[in-house]
Amino acid sequence: MTPWFDPSLLFIDGQWRACASGETLPVVNPSNGEDIARIARGGGADVDAAVKAATAALEGDWGAMTAAERGRILLRLSQLVLDNAEALAQMESADVGKPLTQARGDVTALARYCEFYGGAADKLTGETIPFQQGFTVYTLREPHGVTGHIIPWNYPMQIIGRSIGAALATGNACVLKPAEEACLTALAFADLARQAGLPAGALNVVPGLGAEAGAALTAHPGVRHLSFTGSVATGRRVQIAAAENIVPVTLELGGKSPQIVFGDADLDKALPFLVNAGIQNAGQTCSAGSRILVQRDLHDDLAARMAEEISALTIAPAGEDARVGPLVSARQKAIVEGFLEQARPDQILARAELPEGLPEGGNYVAPVLLGNIGAEHPLAQDEIFGPVQVLIPFEDEEDAVRIANGTKFGLVASVWSADGGRQMRLAKRLKAGQVFLNNYGAAGGVELPFGGVGHSGHGREKGFEALYAFTTLKTVAAHHG
Ligand code: NAD
Repeated sequence: MTPWFDPSLLFIDGQWRACASGETLPVVNPSNGEDIARIARGGGADVDAAVKAATAALEGDWGAMTAAERGRILLRLSQLVLDNAEALAQMESADVGKPLTQARGDVTALARYCEFYGGAADKLTGETIPFQQGFTVYTLREPHGVTGHIIPWNYPMQIIGRSIGAALATGNACVLKPAEEACLTALAFADLARQAGLPAGALNVVPGLGAEAGAALTAHPGVRHLSFTGSVATGRRVQIAAAENIVPVTLELGGKSPQIVFGDADLDKALPFLVNAGIQNAGQTCSAGSRILVQRDLHDDLAARMAEEISALTIAPAGEDARVGPLVSARQKAIVEGFLEQARPDQILARAELPEGLPEGGNYVAPVLLGNIGAEHPLAQDEIFGPVQVLIPFEDEEDAVRIANGTKFGLVASVWSADGGRQMRLAKRLKAGQVFLNNYGAAGGVELPFGGVGHSGHGREKGFEALYAFTTLKTVAAHHG
């Protein structure tokens, strides 16, 4: 895995350049702990240069483009992502420890976001508003200006696609601060955007630490919208920084999402989803289905069937493409193991086994199913962000809703039941930004608005909805008598 660009550089104003401090940070392969590259340690001066370049792009070629021209660039970019699919997948897999099949899925999603937003760019319209005699009133959807994008390490390409794709389609100029653990595909994407004909300055990428480059971006007065995906603690800081500059902010934070299994569910259909929603990307998924709520009569049967599935899971270095790879970092592994230390032996219902011969420096954690745990216990309340699920019994529909809604989060939820009325009732009552009926995740659904309530955040990305988030509405009232 050797990138075709120099990953130790920043991408600003359409050019590769060293960061102002000249310092770099290591890129560690989570599968074996080896250093595979260096990235720039961007800081305040670099963020300032990136915001200036973005501002100039808005005043220049980029700002002068029609919506259709912006759309065509995104469509070319989508094709370039597909043309480079295997290189991108290998890069991501080595960088964040994602099994290859899952990394390939992320590439496909990135291409699809560029395609979706490329196609949508010239479909976003304002409206005319009936008003008093002598007036014609209409609305214009306008870009915010320079948008700041701070993303995490778990699905870099998907989150770049949904956030940068929508921002560029609507004519904003972007400054992207990828997570320090996952910068390679963000830089690759910038280079592909250049090849697709994106004017200089329309997309700038400044790798670096959160407390340095990230904080500088959120504090910069030239940034007019912030899109943040990451933890609740950082989200709170980002929102405070946004308040200082009075800019709108989209927060896509964590979750503890319930998968609710009723006694009448089709268990054969549900089972693969129930397990996969907990172990995909080694459980490092904001919308992981980490709480499985099961109607009491079905509890023991489901526990046994899940245990069977979990013990059959394959675990290997990312490049070997097993079902489960390593966690992204030694730090993340320590966090997950810290949670697991809270569980008594009788609360571990099932645990996969780590195979012999895994590389010593890798961050492997065997998937676990917990049970015999009260719904209020921290293991059933806190986001663990690793391959750990908890099984919680419920009595009836009322009880299921109470437990499902009983955390501070509200990102997604699923209901497994054959009863159509119950599906509709729960879809309305569950506290979540997305509800899945007899499925989970809808295969990522680029077209489907996504975001949370409560501590899962606010604002929506994905689908057409993101085009509204990345624009501001102007009302024009013309008096012509
Ligand atoms: P994190 O909050 O530590 O980091 C996210 C990003 O914020 C990184 O780029 C980081 O460098 C940056 N950052 C850190 N401190 C900052 C600061 N003071 N100012 C500005 N930026 C700063 O989160 P993480 O550990 O990388 O990601 C895991 C979290 O992200 C989980 O809670 C997960 O649920 C959430 N997540 C949510 C979604 C979603 O769409 N809702 C998607 C993926 C991940």
